[in-house]
Amino acid sequence: MIPKSHPRYESLVLRDKIVKAQKEGYLAESAMIAHGRGEAFDYLLGEKTTFPAKRAMYAAVATILLSENPVISVNGNTTALAIDEVIQFAKTVNAKIEINLFYRTDERVEKITELYKKHGYSQILGTKDDDIKYLKSIKNERASASKTGIYSADTVLVPLEDGDRAEILSKTGKKTITIDLNPLSRTSQTSDISIVDNVVRAFPFMTEIAKDLKTQDKQLLINMINDFDNRKNLKEALKLFKNK
Ligand code: ATP
Ligand code: MG
Repeated sequence: MIPKSHPRYESLVLRDKIVKAQKEGYLAESAMIAHGRGEAFDYLLGEKTTFPAKRAMYAAVATILLSENPVISVNGNTTALAIDEVIQFAKTVNAKIEINLFYRTDERVEKITELYKKHGYSQILGTKDDDIKYLKSIKNERASASKTGIYSADTVLVPLEDGDRAEILSKTGKKTITIDLNPLSRTSQTSDISIVDNVVRAFPFMTEIAKDLKTQDKQLLINMINDFDNRKNLKEALKLFKNK
């Protein structure tokens, strides 16, 4: 048990979740390294959601709400850290959820599918039995996508995505939205809307934004998207790291 009074309590709780998930067998070996990298960036951010992250989240939610077929891509880390928050967000904005694993194995896919079921979500895509297609005809696991999910999506939200895949996605003409604590990663650099924040904070925050924006005029959402400049916003996000 981690005592609540511990100065690094929240960070240690997240670490515990990753360790537990690793033991349960649905994370790749490199998952802990990816988590550690995120942890370091979050430390430098003060483990807080910044203003540029909030601005990107407004543009992201507005984009998702105006999309025909928005899909949220999930992997092992996102599942371990924020499964309920992802499901809640997907339901609020009416988006699909699809499993996408960097090191895809049937066993991991099955375990993650089961977890979502256990948490009350049974329509997950990208499962073992799903109809899998290849983005841009690249016959490689990095480019695989569910036919009714990412393959035909107009907007894809990719938390914790690897750069290879983010790059492929960005070339498909789909709108890509990423959540990545590193503003310099290829993931952040190649996406249309880059949210530099921890997935654990971003999903609940976006659910609250969605509840608000759903009641607003469509034109307001369009203006919000048009006014958003991802390059400029990423630069601001980066400055916040340097100013510590
Ligand atoms: P890229 O492949 O995009 O160039 P990378 O190779 O540096 O980036 P990976 O190891 O592929 O990164 O993926 C881990 C990424 O996920 C890191 O950029 C890290 O900052 C980020 N990350 C890890 N944990 C979290 C988290 N909880 N929330 C948001 N981002 C996270
Ligand atoms: Mg990578």
